[in-house]
Amino acid sequence: MEKICIYPGSFDPITNGHMDIIDRSSKIFDKIIVAVLMNASKTPMFSVEERMDLIRKSTEHLPNVEVDSFKGLLVHYLEEKNVNIVIRGLRAVSDFEHEFSMAALNAHMYPKIETILMMTRTENSFLSSSFIKDIARNKGDIKDFVPSQIVSDITKKIQEERFSGK
Ligand code: ADP
Repeated sequence: MEKICIYPGSFDPITNGHMDIIDRSSKIFDKIIVAVLMNASKTPMFSVEERMDLIRKSTEHLPNVEVDSFKGLLVHYLEEKNVNIVIRGLRAVSDFEHEFSMAALNAHMYPKIETILMMTRTENSFLSSSFIKDIARNKGDIKDFVPSQIVSDITKKIQEERFSGK
């Protein structure tokens, strides 16, 4: 039987930190589904479709990575996909509390779930999508922080934002 895991998140946009988690889990699992959450409570920079495209572009070299999106509860999505392993990344201690509560609540709702927390590599521990957006909006160089295939997509989006007065 294929060993499949789901890596859920906002990915607004995907960063080298996310990529590290995807790279490493793609070596452990037969298939990894990177699932973009359609979260109405956040105002994203990229639409769900755009975020999925950026992930596809960044993971072209990994044949066992699939990109998808979901709405609502992760546990319902897991049930629908018939998958029970979830991968999440851990940066600092500050991530732990949130990830721990989420894993516990999900396990209560869906006892079959196994949440695996993968520790970030030190060099990525400071990386977050929101820092990258801040740097890019303030004309900083983001090339060391995101996959090279998507740098121009991010700068283009910032220019569009400026043009539309956002
Ligand atoms: P969410 O809104 O669900 O936290 P994110 O896209 O911010 O979505 O993060 C998705 C997952 O990736 C989370 O588990 C988060 O901890 C992890 N992650 C984010 N940045 C990094 C990083 N630099 N290194 C390792 N894991 C990361």
